[in-house]
Amino acid sequence: MSISKKTIKDIDVSGKRVLMRVDFNVPIKNGVIQDDTRIKAALPSIQYLLDNGAKSIVLMSHLGDPKKDSKKNKEKAEKSGKEFDEASYIDGHHRLAPIGSHLSGLLKKPVEVTKSCIGEEIAQLVNNSSNGAIILLENTRFHKEETSKEASERETLAKELIKYGEVYVNDAFGTAHRAHASTETVAKYLPAVAGFLMEKELEFLEEKIVKSPAKPFVAIVGGAKVSSKITVIEKLLEKVDRIIIGGGMAFTFLKSMGKEIGGSLCEDDQLDVAKTTLEKAKEKNVEFILQTDAIVASEFSNDAETKTVDIDSIPSNMMGLDIGPKSIELFKKALSDAKTIFWNGPVGVFELEKFSRGTIEIANTLAGASGAITVIGGGDSVSAVNKAGVADKMSHISTGGGASMELVEGKVLPGVAALNDK
Ligand code: AMP
Repeated sequence: MSISKKTIKDIDVSGKRVLMRVDFNVPIKNGVIQDDTRIKAALPSIQYLLDNGAKSIVLMSHLGDPKKDSKKNKEKAEKSGKEFDEASYIDGHHRLAPIGSHLSGLLKKPVEVTKSCIGEEIAQLVNNSSNGAIILLENTRFHKEETSKEASERETLAKELIKYGEVYVNDAFGTAHRAHASTETVAKYLPAVAGFLMEKELEFLEEKIVKSPAKPFVAIVGGAKVSSKITVIEKLLEKVDRIIIGGGMAFTFLKSMGKEIGGSLCEDDQLDVAKTTLEKAKEKNVEFILQTDAIVASEFSNDAETKTVDIDSIPSNMMGLDIGPKSIELFKKALSDAKTIFWNGPVGVFELEKFSRGTIEIANTLAGASGAITVIGGGDSVSAVNKAGVADKMSHISTGGGASMELVEGKVLPGVAALNDK
């Protein structure tokens, strides 16, 4: 199954100046990269361009949002009476130099990092380059035009950026749901194609989950709130045979069914939505699977005393923080004959060891589901899969939490729509 957009394999890159959007928005603290998954994910496309004789590869990415992030951290520091040095905060959290060095190490090739993402210096660097020189532009979000709501402002930046390339490759799936200058506007002016990471994300999420999932298709949706996942759940109900709902949000569904949930997380303003969703599932003949027991505690703490109780017996002063052993068995059974599994969101407070078992068991079950396509839709479930040490056993782990959710919700991603059709 192939995607409907052109990829780098559909164009000739030999001798060409390539402008490529990557998603190097990695967690970084005081200049130290905490997780390089997204950098590594862009390597196949970069390597392909090098192997196929690109003249130069100009990479662009954002790294956080300097203005927004520093405002937030300044307020935080002020509240706790600490000093805040904005310039050094930005240097340590928003400059791409450490990413350039890391990329250089991975590629075993020099990577030139520029001081800005526009300017004469870059034009000269590009013009003087040959044999696949790699130039990494400074954080695109230092320019307010990158994310501007005004199309004309985005155009202004895009028109500068396109000077550095004859073709445009977008490999930044994680930001494809944003219509920004470097993710969407530039695609109007150059031949625009998907990189290998973008291709893989679309192949799994769009083709194998949204368009034509192999059946039985089982989705697991967990996490804290119904309100943040309801659109995804509603869309999934149109496609799945079974849906497993776990984590904090399960308690809103359980309460809407008249169960006593003690002090468990509940969004009272979503009770009607939960009830309607349960009815919709019934109408569509989709099995809606909720936990039948829970690990309860009276506080969010690894030191808390816990009890395993049936779902009808949650003490009024305790809250459900993980699924219990009966639910683990129930969920495993629901997954056992699946040919497609999509997972987003933990089924318990997995950050705390004491309440992580259910989520880790789900990760291990997916790892053992050899007959199924297993797709992890970004966010906390990615951390859970990594924590369980089974990342390499999944068919696909999305690098874009927000983008993958929007795709499953059936939205058009502007960064994808802007690419050339096959
Ligand atoms: P989300 O970002 O919506 O996927 O939610 C993830 C968060 O949900 C994690 O931080 C979990 O700790 C939290 N969570 C999962 N299960 C529960 C629960 N039973 N009670 C409270 N929070 C939970």
